[in-house]
Amino acid sequence: MPVLILREGTKESKGREAQRNNITAAKLIAEIVKTSLGPRGMDKMLVDNLGDVTITNDGATILKEMDVQHPAAKMMVEVAKSVDNEVGDGTTSSVVFAGALLEKAEELINKDVHPSVIVDGYNAAAEQALKLLEKIAVNVDVSDKDLLMKIARTSMDSKLVSDDSPLLGQIVVDATKQVAEKADDGLKVDLDNIKVEKKAGGSMHDTKLIKGIVLDKEVVHAGMPKRIEKAKIALINSALEIEKTEMSAEIRITDPHQMQMFLEEENRMLKAMVEKVKGSGANVLLCQKGIDDIAQHYLAKAGVIAVRRVKESDMTKMSRATGARIVNNLDDLTAKDLGSAELVEERKVETDKWVFIEGCRNPKAVTILVRGGSQRVVDEADRSLHDALMVIKDVLEKPAIVAGGGAPEAYIANELRHWSSSQEGRAQLAVQKFAEALDAIPLNLAENAGMDPIDTMTELRAKQSKGAKWTGVDARNTHVTDMYKQNVLEPLVVKQQIIKSATEVVCMILRIDDVIAANKSRMPAGPPGGGMGGMGGMGGMGME
Ligand code: ADP
Ligand code: MG
Repeated sequence: MPVLILREGTKESKGREAQRNNITAAKLIAEIVKTSLGPRGMDKMLVDNLGDVTITNDGATILKEMDVQHPAAKMMVEVAKSVDNEVGDGTTSSVVFAGALLEKAEELINKDVHPSVIVDGYNAAAEQALKLLEKIAVNVDVSDKDLLMKIARTSMDSKLVSDDSPLLGQIVVDATKQVAEKADDGLKVDLDNIKVEKKAGGSMHDTKLIKGIVLDKEVVHAGMPKRIEKAKIALINSALEIEKTEMSAEIRITDPHQMQMFLEEENRMLKAMVEKVKGSGANVLLCQKGIDDIAQHYLAKAGVIAVRRVKESDMTKMSRATGARIVNNLDDLTAKDLGSAELVEERKVETDKWVFIEGCRNPKAVTILVRGGSQRVVDEADRSLHDALMVIKDVLEKPAIVAGGGAPEAYIANELRHWSSSQEGRAQLAVQKFAEALDAIPLNLAENAGMDPIDTMTELRAKQSKGAKWTGVDARNTHVTDMYKQNVLEPLVVKQQIIKSATEVVCMILRIDDVIAANKSRMPAGPPGGGMGGMGGMGGMGME
């Protein structure tokens, strides 16, 4: 009699087979993204099941849009996601590196090295690698704008927008510095305070940093002014409407006069609300809720610009940009609650009308208005800006950098090879494989640039072993050179995160020796009402 412990249809793969399947699936993911690494990397075109097209070079985006099924492959997608969340850049590198680690691990497994030995070796190597990174990192002065520009441009170097990186880099550095705040230990940047609005049309040159907020909303009433200088701004999060009662009541009137009085009273109440706004001295009203037609009319008459149904997130940003306080109750509104801006203006952006609140004094929230030839271009520009904003945030918060172009990876690989001899037993092999996996970064940068991989790597290793630690692959000019001098600079934390996240997930994949997958396609069968035993799992919809 066989003993059944798993539901019928469950698939299980064990031992070597399970490991091999997982490694193959994860490696395939790395295979896909590796051609998009670096400045000469290619872009991917992804079409979703609705036919929407995304063109991108960003590792995290490629994987997010791919809708991966295999569980181990999904773990690779997680690496990219975690790097994206933590440091913003380096997503492609982390996946390429993780893929290389798995490939090297497979070679060892084929030679009968036990996965747990590999895991130990990899962990030891990663720890050492992080120490080495820390050792070569250069501490920098965050007030050096030139330097920040170089870092922002490096992150955009590999993107569609690289030609416009001088302008975009400037915008990114200015925006990030503007919203940075002093914390106990250095600076703190909350990127939520940088609003990125995008609109297809014009060209990338028209992309602008606005010292204030852009709202994708129109002014509510045609009779209102379209432009106010020296604006006094009120932010209100209650409605300028007559509230409907909670219960339904019926009022019988016997005389048309009563009806008239009713309407007049409503009118009077709305007018009183507008008077309060006027009384505070505000000439711009941004309301999170609705504004009644009659109130709009009175506001227009008073020469106030009003916008309604402003998003909560925009209200917060507006408050940070203009210094206004968000008022919950109109009765509380006073002149002290108002914010200020040089100019509030409704402008036409392509076919839409948007309200620009600009020229705020020392705003703690700003807007980047992204323009570009087509929707796909602005979308990709938006993603590249995100990477660039993140790297500047990284450096402002932790002012240490390394060069790029595979230089730190090559340096660490070299050092690890020497260091591996200090390790005992087979873990030594794993450390050596870890070093080889690091070489995947300069190697792929070279391959993507059409350079000869063998010549490049031998030259790189030779120069590195002579102690030129910033020697890397200059993919733009296709030669092996000092990347620090080439101004290809990256935050230390990005490189650290790549190593941490990739090692973590690879070790997790290597430790798996049993994959038990439930049969997803079939719902638990059974006569109606008889599903008492087999509920649970995702198919449990058999309620009566
Ligand atoms: P990721 O998603 O990992 O950031 P990218 O496609 O942005 O992937 O490529 C980043 C890699 O490209 C980094 O290793 C970086 O140092 C390198 N890189 C950027 N600019 C250059 C350059 N001009 N020459 C060589 N390598 C570069
Ligand atoms: Mg990048």
